[in-house]
Order: sequence, then structure tokens, then C-alpha cells
Amino acid sequence: MNPEIEYASKAEINNFQIEKLKALLNYLSTNSAFYKRLFKTHQIDITNINSLEDLSVIPTTSKDDLQQYNDDFICVPKNKIIDYVTTSGTLGEPVIFGLTDKDLDRLAYNEAISFACAGVKPDDVIQLMTTIDRRFMAGLAYFLGARKLGAGIIRVGNGIPELQWDSILKFKPTYIIAVPSFLLKLIEFAKNHNIDINASGIKGAICIGESLREQDFSLNTLSKKIKDNWDIELYSTYASTEMNTAFTECEAQEGGHHHPELIITEILDDNNQPVAEGEAGELTITTLSIEGMPLLRFKTGDIVKEHSQKCKCGRNTNRLGPVIGRKKQMIKYKGTTIYPPAMHNVLNDFSEVETYIIELSHNSIGTDEIRIKIATTTPTEVLLQNIKDHFRAKLRVLPKIEYCDKKEIQVLQFPKMSRKPMMVIDLRK
Ligand SMILES: [Zn+2]
Repeated sequence: MNPEIEYASKAEINNFQIEKLKALLNYLSTNSAFYKRLFKTHQIDITNINSLEDLSVIPTTSKDDLQQYNDDFICVPKNKIIDYVTTSGTLGEPVIFGLTDKDLDRLAYNEAISFACAGVKPDDVIQLMTTIDRRFMAGLAYFLGARKLGAGIIRVGNGIPELQWDSILKFKPTYIIAVPSFLLKLIEFAKNHNIDINASGIKGAICIGESLREQDFSLNTLSKKIKDNWDIELYSTYASTEMNTAFTECEAQEGGHHHPELIITEILDDNNQPVAEGEAGELTITTLSIEGMPLLRFKTGDIVKEHSQKCKCGRNTNRLGPVIGRKKQMIKYKGTTIYPPAMHNVLNDFSEVETYIIELSHNSIGTDEIRIKIATTTPTEVLLQNIKDHFRAKLRVLPKIEYCDKKEIQVLQFPKMSRKPMMVIDLRK
């Protein structure tokens, strides 16, 4: 199940992608109202695009574009669409993605090779601890991928530790797919109910939604907490609806592997120029072999580093490091650039911190301010000092930190329509 192209030379991968890109440009210039217009407006002759570097002459596509011209991105008549997926937009209304029969095959292939990358074999059984419906793409992708690979899958859905453990003990899955912080809930439940987690037969967890590692791939606090209690392998997977593609870690666990047949990646700076090798920048993607809603140079909003050295697993494909943060949540604070996930990591190191919220605002001279409100049952000066020292050590800057009532924080965390707690409130204009 591991495609040969992943082991080919960098030059071969590059040439392979150029051919795929040319096919995409042809397809878009025939079928996409949005990109036809874009090529015309910017006088782009697609026959002049003969390398991946040539892509830079094409303007990037933003999430606002998807929202504003949603229908113009869809390249097939409605009767070709099998599955409808939505993703939250920037301006309120969700963006609709339509997947054709072929797109679903592609999605299955994508997830099957991602599973294979993480060591899942046809004999394995996967317990799915994420939602499969609600117009999400991920759960469906996991189901289709497991089926394509020939592995078993138990669709438990998210939450409900009791049902998860019931299924683990009943069906003896070997892998689980979950949000890593949920694994802590599973550990807690097992402890409280005398379940021997290390005898459960689970070999590994494929983790979505939250980072497992620091930028040097060492375990972060969250994954250390998991591994201290549960002797399983943790593989990070990073994906989005817009990408229709996952970047999943191999056994080396040093970043999610790029699949050259599915997607082209660029890492761009604030001026849409490629960053220097290994630098952090915004992941910008071009999807390959998609019929329904292919995207060209779509800016994902995620800040990542791309690693291009050959991987220990033998693959030559690039790897994406843990997501550093969302571009729009970038904070310029006292001369340092930081993103909320780095602050989550610092705060997660303190078991005394029950909950918290990070408030971002502009001060009177228009620069960024950070105020962290913390709830704890032990609001001592010593604890506050320890947290401050840890911030200085880890991030080299110290935000304003104050104790706050737990209820007050919870009100802030759950504004109207919010499905999960918000840990960051951005009051900046
Ligand atoms: Zn690898």
C-alpha cells in the first residue's frame, strides 16, 4: 500500500508533480468558473507554467474566495456530486464542498496510504473516536480508508469513554483514532474502573486536532502525559476539508508525510513568497486529481515548517512539522512572534490549572496585548510565580496572567453556537 513515488528521488517527485499540475491547470481552465476568470483577469497563459516555481505567477486563493464564490469553484454538475461536506467559513456562512464518486475513491486512497504510513496493516482493527456525520469529511475518510486498506473499523464516534472502553474490550481493536486530549479521558476512566490499559491490545493512536510534538519532534506535555500512562505509539495526522488530503506520520514520527500524487505544498511568507528551507510559513496547497472542487494555491491559514531531508523510514517525500498556529492568531508581543498553541503547552504543564482563557487585544498604541485568565483551587503567589517563570523560560516573554473565577472563564469559553470550549478570545480588530 506504500506508493513507489514516495521512495523516488526528489527530482522524480518534482517531475511527477509537474505533470499532475499541468493536468490540473487544463482541467481548471475548462471546468472551473472561478479559475477561468482568475486566469483571464490576470492574463495567465497556463501553457507557460512548466515548473512548480512557475506557480508563483498565479494569485493565491483565500478562504474568503471560497465563501464569496463557492458555486464557481465547483467543477461538476450537481448530479455528479455524491457527498456534501461543509467547513466553517471566515464570514459566517459555511463553505460547501461536493465530492464526486471519483473524489470519494481518492479520499479512500489518501487515507489508506496514510494509515499504511502509520504502520496500520490489513489485519488491524481501528476504533474511530471521531464524528463520522455532521457534514464532516474526516470520519468518512477514515472509514473509507480502512475499508480500502482492508482493515477493520469500529465507528464509536466521539466522546463517551464508557462506550469506548466497552468497544475496546469487546472488539480488541489495535489502533485508535482520536483527539489526543481525549486519550487522557480514556486513561482516567480506565483508572477509575480498574481497566488495565496496557493489556488492552491497543498498539497505536492516530491523533488529530492537537499537536503531539514540539518543533524538534520531541513529545510535548500532552503526549508525555499520555505516554506516561499508556504504552502506545502516537502518530500525528494533519488534514483539512480544503486539502482533501492527510499528512500522517510514519514510524519515525518526525512530521506528516506529503503524498506527491495528491497535493502540492508551498510554504509562503507574508508577501506570498516561499520561505527559506526549514523556516515557518503559511501552508499553501494545490490539490491534485480532484473532480468536484479542486483548489489552486489555497492559503490554509496554518503556519508550519516543512522538512525536506530524507526520512528515516526511507521515504523521500517532505514532511510537515506540528502546526505552529493559525496565521490570524499570530501575536507580535514585545518583539517576539508567538501563537496560542505555544501558550497552551506552557499552561498544560501545570496540573493545578483547572481551566484558562487567553485574551488577545490591542492596547492604546495599537500593539498586541495578551491577558491569560486562570482558574485554580490553589491561587497562591508561588503558583503564579512558577507559571510566570515557565513562560519566561519557554517563550522568552511574559504575558499578563491573573487568577479568575472558574465560572466566569466558562462563560467566556462557551459563546453562542460554540461546540467546543474556546481557549482563545481574539478582541483585536
Ligand atoms: Zn518517514
